[in-house]
Amino acid sequence: MKVAVIGGGIIGLCSAYYLKKAGHDVLVFDQSSLEDGCSFGNAGMVVPSHIIPLAAPGMIAKGIRWMFNSKSPFYVRPRLNLDLLRWGLDFYRHANSDHVARSVPALKELSLFSKACYQQFAREALFDFAYHERGLLMLYQTEAAAHEEGETAALANRYGVKAEVLSASEVQALEPVVRVNARGGVFYPGDAHLTPQLLTRGLIEYLRHEGVQILPSVAVTDFVIQHRHVRSLRTPQGDHAVDSVVLAAGSWSGELARQLHLRLPMQAGKGYSFTLPEVKKNVRIPSILLEARVAVTPMGSSLRFGGTMEITGLNHAIQLNRVRGIVEAIPRYYPEMQVSMPKTEEIWHGLRPCSPDGLPYIGRLTSLPNVIVATGHAMMGLSLAPGTGKLVTELMNEEQPTVSLAEFAPERFVG
Ligand SMILES: Cc1cc2nc3c(=O)[nH]c(=O)nc-3n(C[C@H](O)[C@H](O)[C@H](O)COP(=O)(O)OP(=O)(O)OC[C@H]3O[C@@H](n4cnc5c(N)ncnc54)[C@H](O)[C@@H]3O)c2cc1C
Repeated sequence: MKVAVIGGGIIGLCSAYYLKKAGHDVLVFDQSSLEDGCSFGNAGMVVPSHIIPLAAPGMIAKGIRWMFNSKSPFYVRPRLNLDLLRWGLDFYRHANSDHVARSVPALKELSLFSKACYQQFAREALFDFAYHERGLLMLYQTEAAAHEEGETAALANRYGVKAEVLSASEVQALEPVVRVNARGGVFYPGDAHLTPQLLTRGLIEYLRHEGVQILPSVAVTDFVIQHRHVRSLRTPQGDHAVDSVVLAAGSWSGELARQLHLRLPMQAGKGYSFTLPEVKKNVRIPSILLEARVAVTPMGSSLRFGGTMEITGLNHAIQLNRVRGIVEAIPRYYPEMQVSMPKTEEIWHGLRPCSPDGLPYIGRLTSLPNVIVATGHAMMGLSLAPGTGKLVTELMNEEQPTVSLAEFAPERFVG
């Protein structure tokens, strides 16, 4: 079967990997040069600990507080845009405990499945992507954050995701080289991390070697649909006849879905990262600095800091003040680390594909049965990518998916 994957981010690449393995003839289309993008410069965390969706109780109040601080980790640019208004309303409708209760088991199952896929990738040693299983530390300084994270840890333990509440000295014992300033932390021993650029570039090279056609700088602009099936893809370079389509176009998927007459609510959640090279006294375990919402990941001898979620549309403008917010948070948690503001060209940004209920879209369309959607993974796309790719292939082969996909149905906002 000739399968076109639209999007060469980590979701598209992992889908292509499993589809090729299953014997399909695979083409990957990407509008970019495939040298950068959301899947390249992210924090590289594989987080089965993250079982609570973004749409959860308390998020709206927190978001409103953050909106008024230009260095805060969250911002929505108010604008008169129907898609944004509907997305906001859908988010509001889902930010409740019933939604969390339904989502937690689904996210947990998908996360653990995906981590097992990474373990297999690493074992099969296709290429090195610096995969390490050292866990994740959630560090906090305030009583409020300690309380909130303690509740999350209790919930995780109830669902079988191991979480250990640590005192300040127990946190410090896990980080022997770097001084940590925290009231305490929660340690999730089951989490892992990797270097995203090594993974994406390694996958591109491996897929090419295996005969997957990867077409950078080719944007899919429209579809030829006949008898409820996509027959070919329209691109400025010409049409491509296909048997099946995987829509994995990240933050752009909502716009492309319109051409398929599908409502797929999506907002781009911009985040930034920068990487310090050759750090002498490096952090050993990836951490999230909770009050600042900054992710810290050691990658070899370098150290990456990432954060912020700006819902400001599909654009690439960099808000230096938000990056400054990340920089200023670092010495508050690591007092010996004085980091200066990176130059603009050293600041990486990516657009996270965010659905309004905080759950990815994974499934076959009932309206167009030769289209499978795999997108909307927001803050967890890297984590959930190999699992998603394997599920896409199971759906393509009309096999029973290993993971229940009921909560991830791509048509859940239709109607
Ligand atoms: C600062 C930051 C830190 C993060 N840290 C983590 C982390 O630690 N762990 C984690 O799991 N996740 C993390 N994420 C989230 C993760 O990076 C994303 O969820 C993931 O990269 C999304 O992958 P994707 O393949 O869906 O989208 P993308 O990587 O955006 O790929 C989609 C691709 O589709 C292409 N495309 C779009 N439209 C078209 C079209 N019409 N025709 C052809 N091609 C098209 C685009 O060019 C793009 O390359 C982080 C994100 C940010 C911003």
